[in-house]
Amino acid sequence: MGEMTQGQALQFSREEMREIGYRVIDMLVDYYEDRADRPVAEKLDYEALDAILREPLPRKGMPWREALEQFERQVVDASNRVDHPRFFAYIPLANNFVSVMADALAAGYNIFNAVWLQAPGAVQIERLTVDWLRQIFGLPQAAGGTFVSGGSVANLTALAVAREIQLQGDTRAAVAYCSDQIHFAVSRGLRVLGFAPEQLRKIPSDDNFRLPVTRLRSAIAEDRTAGKEPFCVIASAGTTNTGAVDPLDELANFCAQEELWLHVDGAYGAPAMLTERGKRALKGLERVDSLALDAHKWLFQPIECGVVLVRERRWLPRTFKETPEYLKDAQSEGEELNFMYQGIQLTRQFRALKLWMSFKVFGLDAISEAIAAGYENAELAERLLREAGPWEIVTPAQMAILTFRYKPANGDEELANRVTHNLVGRLLDDGYAFASGTQLRGRTVMRMCANNPRTTASDLEKTVQLMTRLAAELEAEILGATASS
Ligand SMILES: *Cc1c(COP(=O)(O)O)cnc(C)c1O
Repeated sequence: MGEMTQGQALQFSREEMREIGYRVIDMLVDYYEDRADRPVAEKLDYEALDAILREPLPRKGMPWREALEQFERQVVDASNRVDHPRFFAYIPLANNFVSVMADALAAGYNIFNAVWLQAPGAVQIERLTVDWLRQIFGLPQAAGGTFVSGGSVANLTALAVAREIQLQGDTRAAVAYCSDQIHFAVSRGLRVLGFAPEQLRKIPSDDNFRLPVTRLRSAIAEDRTAGKEPFCVIASAGTTNTGAVDPLDELANFCAQEELWLHVDGAYGAPAMLTERGKRALKGLERVDSLALDAHKWLFQPIECGVVLVRERRWLPRTFKETPEYLKDAQSEGEELNFMYQGIQLTRQFRALKLWMSFKVFGLDAISEAIAAGYENAELAERLLREAGPWEIVTPAQMAILTFRYKPANGDEELANRVTHNLVGRLLDDGYAFASGTQLRGRTVMRMCANNPRTTASDLEKTVQLMTRLAAELEAEILGATASS
């Protein structure tokens, strides 16, 4: 193949397009097949990287192949592999190839699924996929929803609906409630919606990092006495820190009695509903007014794939509908759903396609098993850490998340903090596996989120061995340094 003919109305020839496409697929397939043999993350020197990446605005084009090589070197090789079977940090994002191809199709056909009249098939697939999710979470027939970019926007969208429906837009005295373990996406979402920081009251969580209903009740009574207007309780269906699930059923009872909106941030944990254990932990989820979900986390979709569900789908157009002149002839009634009025985007990616296609190709049973594998992985990691010895399990495996901390023989808490804190950097230097740290009640802990179904028992065994060795080395270094100083 000679030089590409790019540049004529931004087009390539048929042969060139095939060549490019095949090359991209080859790269991806090699990546998927060889991923587990590569380091999980590289320690990046941001300054050096920035110096390489900075370049002038290109006036003239370059061969496509060279741009692709640059992408491989400067982006692929310089990214943490969040879908790697030994990436246990933050929330791993283990996607699947079917959905990756679906994303390519959605981009390639540039499907505009904002308006029924323009793409009825796409609108229908999004509506159907939302309805499958509705069924999974046990919401009533009247419920509905929309695909958005991710959990942050799903939470923000749901809270915009709560503001409109519950408060009729008058936020002056309004107060929302959550635990101190809530994801920052919730507080940021409320801030963007115009709420002042004191309009979100964070209730100290209980010993299991759950929202205690008794404390919630007294905070609300106190605020009512002070003339405030409690309107919404925001619960977690699996916190990012520990996987803790707030007592959803009890909260649903409370919110029903008190006429409060119940929003659940299920960005991480809601898909656990597809497993028996998850169903028990998430009892009450079917009673929410709104739910934020991230299909790019525990439903194995490529980034971005968020979903917001609301108990009555008519609440969405009540919140988001506008009637601009130039879209008058695109208006429609009844069953002809226009997604441009279900959220804040007009032109939007056809994100439902990937979830729809993967549900159909794999089937729900396989997806449920893949979710259940996360529970088993985290439980195995917990057992292995207990057996290895010098570890304190801070919160046991729940919703595929485990937190733990180094336990030095001399019981020194400060030494435990330092070893645990420094271990994250050591893991990154090593590159075999990666887990991240967090703070729980002022204590430094490590956390592992093991929701990647392609993680093997051997991955977990070797990761625990590695962490145990690195921690012992760190301890010896710290004690050595103290002794010699
Ligand atoms: C990841 C996460 C979010 C934010 O979702 P994004 O897709 O990253 O915007 C919100 N809440 C929880 C519990 C999460 O785990």
